[in-house]
Amino acid sequence: MKSLSILGATGSIGQSTLDLVRRQPDAFSVEVLTAQANVDGLAQAAKDVKAKRAVIGDESHYAALKAALAGTGIEVSAGRAAVIDAAACGADWTMASIVGCAGLEPVMAAIRRGGTIALANKESLVSAGDVLMAAVRDHGATLLPVDSEHNAIFQCFERENAAQVRRVILTASGGPFRQLDADMLCKVTPEQAVKHPNWSMGAKISVDSASLMNKGLELIEAYHLFPVAVDQLDVIVHPQSVIHSMVEYQDGSVLAQLGSPDMRTPVSYCLAWPDRMPAPVERLDLAKIAQLSFEEPDLVRFPCLQLAKDALAQGRGAPAILNAANEIAVAAFLDKRIGFMDIPSVVESVLAGYDAPVPATIADILALDSEARRRAAQQVEAVAA
Ligand code: NAD
Ligand code: MG
Repeated sequence: MKSLSILGATGSIGQSTLDLVRRQPDAFSVEVLTAQANVDGLAQAAKDVKAKRAVIGDESHYAALKAALAGTGIEVSAGRAAVIDAAACGADWTMASIVGCAGLEPVMAAIRRGGTIALANKESLVSAGDVLMAAVRDHGATLLPVDSEHNAIFQCFERENAAQVRRVILTASGGPFRQLDADMLCKVTPEQAVKHPNWSMGAKISVDSASLMNKGLELIEAYHLFPVAVDQLDVIVHPQSVIHSMVEYQDGSVLAQLGSPDMRTPVSYCLAWPDRMPAPVERLDLAKIAQLSFEEPDLVRFPCLQLAKDALAQGRGAPAILNAANEIAVAAFLDKRIGFMDIPSVVESVLAGYDAPVPATIADILALDSEARRRAAQQVEAVAA
């Protein structure tokens, strides 16, 4: 039996993970589930999978969670420190599926315990890539990529032939606004942005997919996960989301991983790794799909991708600043305080005005993250006024 923890159990990835765990109750024992505010969802999940502990990030929900789990024997705790403590519980396998840089300290706590971490929380790797990957090595942890593109690359990347890899090509669906012109893009609403054509996901990543910031964050993620140089990373738009990414070798071979767009495939891959397990996903019917198409990303209509590429090339604190400013801008867009095309403007102005010191520790990154958030919030005020 594998012991496991799910950080962010009530989210889209958390639910996909729970669905797989529920189907194989004898294979997994659940140590701890965490959520930020969804008491009912967390309590239900904890009962379903007989978790030993349930942790709610927002302390004001402690009493409600305690009441919801009364008589079950499931231990209850609350608060930020309790979430980080839960991450450090020493489970064999941890799903890191908190959204945003808020996931960084919990991920680091899990890494320091040296188990296997299935990483969905890309923002932690974008903000703290060098420090996080060094910790993975120092603590003998195993990091498995959940993000569908990186999971595909992981399956296709021959580490022993890394020197023979020519390019790593990330596919992008292009999101719901792929065909909108610049004028229309200024007018799109949060409701339209969260309606992804192929994937069902949390609100923040859905907006990132619509702006192509998600693909930018994923380029930075790929740079840290695989032994490649910045100029070996490419993006191609592939609206059907059937090919999840590709690795091109010097001999001209291109290896790709294909599948229906359902996160239970990459999550199950991480759950069973190095084996495989069944996943209840729609089988890929290529004859029915009939056509796969590809196009270059449009960096003019979707400036977030260019901003992320620049931040990756610049390195130092730039990716952490990019991520923090984007989190604030996306939240403001979801709150209808700024427009969709204000997201790249806010990110760009924060990046341009902040010459941050090179972060060497998690504390440095958190300081940089919070200063970038403060500046982004000011930009949001200026735009919203
Ligand atoms: P979501 O919004 O559906 O869920 C987020 C989870 O994190 C929830 O359980 C929530 O309670 C918890 N959470 C939120 N804020 C928190 C905080 N401050 N402290 C502690 N916990 C907090 O998000 P999601 O779509 O499941 O995405 C989770 C992560 O996985 C993101 O980093 C996202 O980029 C990545 N990811 C998601 C998908 C997908 O298909 N949804 C695909 C690839 C990568
Ligand atoms: Mg992805």
